[in-house]
Order: sequence, then C-alpha cells, then structure tokens
Amino acid sequence: MPDKAGHVDIDLERSAERIDHDVQSLTGSDYTLSAEAIRRYAYRPEYRATLDYFTHAWQELGFTVSEDPVGNFVARNRPPGEPVFGVGSHCDSNRNGGRWDGTLGVVCALEVCRASAEHGLDLPLQAISFLEEEGSGFGQMVLGSRIVAGRVSEQELREQIHAIDDGRPFWEHAQEAGYEPARWRECAHILDDLSGWIELHIEQGRVLQDTGRRLGVVSAIAGYVHGDIRITGRADHAGATPMDMRADSGVVAAETIIELERLARAAGSGTVGTVGEIEIAPGLINAIPGRTRISLDVRGPEDEAVHGVIRDIERFAQRAAAERGTKASYSQRQTVPATPMDERLVAALEAAASASGESFTTMISGAAHDTMCVAERVPAAMVFVPCRDGLSHTPEEDANPADAALGVQVILGAISAMVEPG
Ligand SMILES: [Zn+2]
Repeated sequence: MPDKAGHVDIDLERSAERIDHDVQSLTGSDYTLSAEAIRRYAYRPEYRATLDYFTHAWQELGFTVSEDPVGNFVARNRPPGEPVFGVGSHCDSNRNGGRWDGTLGVVCALEVCRASAEHGLDLPLQAISFLEEEGSGFGQMVLGSRIVAGRVSEQELREQIHAIDDGRPFWEHAQEAGYEPARWRECAHILDDLSGWIELHIEQGRVLQDTGRRLGVVSAIAGYVHGDIRITGRADHAGATPMDMRADSGVVAAETIIELERLARAAGSGTVGTVGEIEIAPGLINAIPGRTRISLDVRGPEDEAVHGVIRDIERFAQRAAAERGTKASYSQRQTVPATPMDERLVAALEAAASASGESFTTMISGAAHDTMCVAERVPAAMVFVPCRDGLSHTPEEDANPADAALGVQVILGAISAMVEPG
C-alpha cells in the first residue's frame, strides 16, 4: 500500500522486463510499414495491428476497450461515469521513427495498469492512446488530441486535412477504416471522467542524460512563436561599392541573430531562441545582399518572456536596419501558448520521485505533446525518461526500460496520493 508520500513499491525488474518485451514486440514486421524505421500511422494495417496488440493486453487485465469516433484508443477498469485517472500517450510513429517515442508511453500506461492490479492497488484507471500525434499520416501534429479538445473544425477534417500518401481527405480515410468522423464532436467525451492525467515520454533532449538523472517531472510544456524578419537593402556590386556606401541586409541579419541569442539568454526561465533559416537574395558571391530573411523560433514556459523576446528583437532589427540604411519588418507565422502542468500533480510526482531515492529533476518540455490538449480540461503532468544522446524521430532512438519502470513506480505513487480519499 502507498505510504504518506505516495510511495509505492513495485517489482522494478519485472516491470522493466515487461516494458522491454512490449516495446520490442511492437518493432515486428506486423507493426511497421518500413524495415528500416518504425513507421506507422492512422488507418494503416500496421497501426490497426498495434491497437489490436494493446486491446488484447488490456482485455487480459479485465479492462473495457473502446475507440472514439475517429480512432483514439481508450481502455478503462471502471464503468462510464465513474472517476478514473488517465495515463497514456500515442502509438503512431514518425515516418523515420524509432521504437520508443510515444509507444513507450502507451506501454508504460499498460504497465501502470498491470502493476496496480498486481500490487493490489486497484486504482481507477483509464488509458488513452491518441491518434496521429506525429502527423505521419496526415501532416498534422497532435491531431487526435486536438480533435478531442475541439481545436479543429469540421471543415478541416472533411476537406482540408489530407493524407500524405494519396492526398485524399482525412474524412474519407476515417470512414474507410470503419470510423464515424461525422460524430467527431463526441471524441471530447473520452476526457469526461478523468480526475487527472499523466503521460510518460522519452525526453527528446539531452538534459537528463547529461546531468545523470533518471527521471524528469515536467512542470510546463513550452509555448512558441514562429515568425520571420525581412530586411531590405540594396543589391549593389560587391566590388564597385565602397564600404561606407552600402545598404547590406546580410550584416543586419547577422547582428539580429547575435542579438536574439543575447535576448533569449537574458529572458531566462527556459526561454530559447533560434534562427534556423537564412535566405539571402540575390545570393551571389559578388553581390551585396539586397534582401535577407531570417526565421525566428522562440519558445519557453512563460508566454510573457517569449513575446518579450519577439517584441525586443523586432525593435532591435528595425534600429539596426535603420543604422545601415536598410529596412526591417517582422511577420508572425504561428503562436502557441505555453501549457503549465497542474501544480498539485507535479508536487505529487516530485514527492513520489523523491521517495524512490533516485535522481530526478523538474523540467520544461520544449517539444509539443498530446498532454497540451488534455491539460485544458484535466489536471495534467508528464514524466520524462532519458533517451540516448537526445535522439528521437530516428531508428537510432534508444531508452532504458529500467528508467521507464521507475517512471511507472513514480506515476503509481502520484496517482495513489491523488485518488486517495481525503
Ligand atoms: Zn511522441
């Protein structure tokens, strides 16, 4: 039984073995479209086989398994209407994916359910595996959980979201696979009974590995702004134009890139800023850059800090441009707000992680996850486990089942503490 700190002892070795067995089983040829990578996505036979694998495993535990009108997978051990605690992730995989991203979270949700039964905890649980997190089938990230959260429109589902393989609409593919996309609004109900939600995922970065920690408790999922700065100068001849007669947009871009690094560092609290694209015109060795575009990717757990960096870099670019006789303008492509995790749930996970005696840290997720869409309605948090060299979305992806088993133990401890009466 759990003690006051929500500590639960499970057979870590046995859990690690089962987790490893499930993850390795799902690399078999029935479960991936490619022999070189773990490639699976919605409505394909490999994806169906993966859901069947999990259906069988959860039914063996006495859970009731269902799928919502578009194919989000649900398994629960209490009747509808009774409160349950949610665990899960996604089991689709990037086209060049590995075996751990997403799948590990569903496998660990299964292990949470197994260990809860095995150790007599009998926690009220509901597992979810969200459809199309990676966008491999339809080019849309976190699609299943966005449908659940009502963050897509019917028109998008009917006409605007197309399969990468054949260009036909999501709607048609869902229908052909036996689903009822016309009832997509009912997908929201899969969150109705959840008193909380925890997703376990590989970190997809190197923080845990490089600091020697076995677990990360996620306190927020970063929001981001994507935009561009365009600088317009004069594309004069590189030889015939003296240095003090130039309007060089490339130099302004260079100054702006350096300033973005400074601003992101100064903003602190996990804010990061990146220029990943540079486009120079005319792009010739003997021409002064007349026009330069740089992309901006600014992220962090605090929206104010992120938007502050964007505001300051825009001002800087305009000032720097004016000083060199050029002009700079900023345009935004997309912005997504940060998602703070539930404080009580984070504290419960930290307490359970402390009680385990193993090294962990509280951290921010820089990558997007389905939990962003769950957190709007349900107190939510995430647990990260290290992945080798931070690699993900590659067959090289690697993680340690023993760390995942520790994650399962910590999640069980936190859930026990959260669902206990009083
Ligand atoms: Zn993932």
